[in-house]
Amino acid sequence: DRRGPGGAGPRERARTTVILSGIHPLEWIGVETHLALLERLAAEDLGGRSIFAVPIVNPDGLLRVEMNLRVGRRRYVRGNARGVDLNRNFDAGWYERGLVQRLVGLVSSPGSRPASEPEVEAIAHALSSRRIDRALSLHSAGGAVLYPPAHSLWPVADAAEHRAFALRVARAADRRPYRAMSYVRFAWGIRKAGLEIDWLHDRHGALSLLVECSRGELGLRPSRLVEPFAWFNPRKPDDAAPQLVEAVLPFVRGARA
Ligand SMILES: [Zn+2]
Repeated sequence: DRRGPGGAGPRERARTTVILSGIHPLEWIGVETHLALLERLAAEDLGGRSIFAVPIVNPDGLLRVEMNLRVGRRRYVRGNARGVDLNRNFDAGWYERGLVQRLVGLVSSPGSRPASEPEVEAIAHALSSRRIDRALSLHSAGGAVLYPPAHSLWPVADAAEHRAFALRVARAADRRPYRAMSYVRFAWGIRKAGLEIDWLHDRHGALSLLVECSRGELGLRPSRLVEPFAWFNPRKPDDAAPQLVEAVLPFVRGARA
């Protein structure tokens, strides 16, 4: 087996689409959309394409959120069992953290080193010999389709192709289109290290999209304002998920831009 750096392998090896969700455990609509997407993909002829899907990247975090919801405890939960933000733990731009990132790191830890967390390490290991050309990570609730980079202010070499796909998904995601831009622009120019989309792009060469599913629909109900779960999820997930599935489907299946 000839494996180049970054998992580039023999030309005949099947292409893989990576789909991730549940990295941030309050962002439940991403998991819901992911499962609906898998149901859709299972009924399709993918022409030899493999799908590598991890619907719940952060199971410990999700269990904590579910427990909190069950007993009516209103808590903000972002990390894994050790309090590490898994979407700062991938090996992408890790040593480029500036002052702001280090200050933010005091609130949510990026981990002790790249892939220090078992959840991230397991994904990196499982993907090491795959030929990945598409990657989709489902978050919420910014109403945006984001592409690399997050850890740099410089556009990626294939920014135009990313942008074309991001715009296409953004237009189809909702009646009122989502925004489409690079992650670093979305973050007001604040660079962030350790994101999954940067790792999947830089390390594997995949076209990588991060979809911030749905928009905050807090309305004026105080009961929702004080409930962190409501910040990240639409009131009616069954209405949001099907349209998101159709929006990302061509990208996931490997369609050309
Ligand atoms: Zn998120």
